Amino acid sequence: MSHSGLVLSGRKYARVVRSSLKERVSLLQGCPPGLAVIMVGDDPASKVYVGAKEKACKKVGINSTVINMPADSSEADVLRRVDELNSDDKVHGILVQLPLPDHISVDRIASAVLPEKDVDGFHPVNVGRLWRGEDGLFPCTPSGIIGLLRHYDIPMSGKNALIVGRSNIVGKPMAALLLRENCTVTVAHSRTVDLIKQCGRADILVVAAGRAEMIKRNWVKPGAVVVDVGMNRNSSGKLVGDVDYHDVKEVCSAITPVPGGVGPLTIAYLLENTFKARSKQKTIEPN
Ligand code: NDP
Repeated sequence: MSHSGLVLSGRKYARVVRSSLKERVSLLQGCPPGLAVIMVGDDPASKVYVGAKEKACKKVGINSTVINMPADSSEADVLRRVDELNSDDKVHGILVQLPLPDHISVDRIASAVLPEKDVDGFHPVNVGRLWRGEDGLFPCTPSGIIGLLRHYDIPMSGKNALIVGRSNIVGKPMAALLLRENCTVTVAHSRTVDLIKQCGRADILVVAAGRAEMIKRNWVKPGAVVVDVGMNRNSSGKLVGDVDYHDVKEVCSAITPVPGGVGPLTIAYLLENTFKARSKQKTIEPN
């Protein structure tokens, strides 16, 4: 008998997040959250992402400003802009769009943003808060995944979670957040021995490797929950995840599709983080 996992729709959940935010922002009565995005150079993909972020802000009533800097700006120029935004009290969140030109250190820029305005959650202070189990601003994609799993009432406590990928943007913060949900967490990467065996033990499998459709049906524990972070183009140019969706859907209990799964969560949680940053910076409401 053919069985098919529940589709965890990030697109639908992102709508829920945005409408809740819109309502919360409207209660702030004329003192909306402000997001500033610094973009260095004119990478076409970055332009598309930044445009999408601006549009999403507008929809929920968050003020957004984009600061376009030429590709030959020095690191000191960018640091100066970050400083100005750090001391601008209408700006509650600062995001530096990646990638940056090679001559600018991502780490130095990320560390220059005030931790309270670090809506990407990349500042070492926020990374420390995340692992220590403290409150802070945490990376958008993994935060969105936790939100999605909660939204669909997926039990996490005590479950074996495997994360494939150990990047600072997805894999590592995902591990910390699942640990905070009381999962037993394993992190796999390109040097992991017998990845198939590791996958077979996972009740919750989060894949962020950037390898088109690498996870096959026979790798997945029957009944597992599968979260596919990957965004890849296959040989015919189609957008696919890291999971062989149609195959794996038959054995898992729940799965995120690509597109419409994890993708929409990232911007939704950027808005959520901007709102949270404002709440932390304004403890006394004007109304
Ligand atoms: P990185 O390239 O920074 O990291 C990839 C990770 O996967 C590395 O840790 C690497 O291991 C590991 N890996 C690569 N190949 C294998 C393999 N064959 N077996 C096991 N592990 C492997 O990628 P990101 O974390 O930035 O992104 C991952 C994917 O998620 C990409 O497809 C990206 O486009 C997508 N993404 C999607 C987002 C969304 O909003 N939906 C947001 C961010 C990313 P090692 O460390 O050993 O090299």
